[in-house]
Amino acid sequence: DSLIVGVTGGIGSGKTTVCKIFHQLGVPIYFADDRGKYLLSNDELLKSQVMDLFGAESYLPDGLLNRSFLANRVFSNTEELSKLNGLVHPAVAKDFLQWANNQNAKVLIKEAALLIENGSYTALNKLISVLAPEDVRINRVLMRDIQRDKAQVLDIMSNQVDDKGRREVSDYLIDNGGSKLLIPQVLKIHKELQLIKS
Ligand code: ATP
Repeated sequence: DSLIVGVTGGIGSGKTTVCKIFHQLGVPIYFADDRGKYLLSNDELLKSQVMDLFGAESYLPDGLLNRSFLANRVFSNTEELSKLNGLVHPAVAKDFLQWANNQNAKVLIKEAALLIENGSYTALNKLISVLAPEDVRINRVLMRDIQRDKAQVLDIMSNQVDDKGRREVSDYLIDNGGSKLLIPQVLKIHKELQLIKS
């Protein structure tokens, strides 16, 4: 019975960076978005569901996901995208529970870009949101991702909850706008989470 803590934030806010610090403190981290991508190519039930919905072309002859085919199908088609998410989310939720059951730690972290937007934060014991101004986030993502342009980043942002929405439902906020150091903020929250479980 570990404490399940979510870490979320908009694109480029610093979720992964924050989780790396928690990991250094010994907290096991489940990176839900990466795991979802893995499951799309490796979970047989999920694969068959995707093929039922989008066709056999969804997978390449070697069994890996046909990313460009699927991206074209869901690109700017929110209905198709939410159908795909409707398959991936339960698969990730199940996989997360299996993972969590195999951890031996007081605190576990689930990191995901969309925890508030899809309501899945309600299944967590605590929620941490990482915040940074939009212009800072855009610059960081453009520095990090060679293949993305500003319009794409803005498009992703438009499907994510704003800071007001994050503040309303989060138990802890981390200011990663650049004027405050991250490590002391993470240490403080880590200490408080440990106290909850002792
Ligand atoms: P995404 O939603 O795209 O996965 P994310 O929220 O996980 O993004 P990170 O990948 O942690 O964000 O951070 C985005 C980029 O900004 C990375 O290149 C990271 O190294 C950098 N970064 C994060 N925090 C800071 C900071 N405080 N100062 C400078 N650069 C930072």
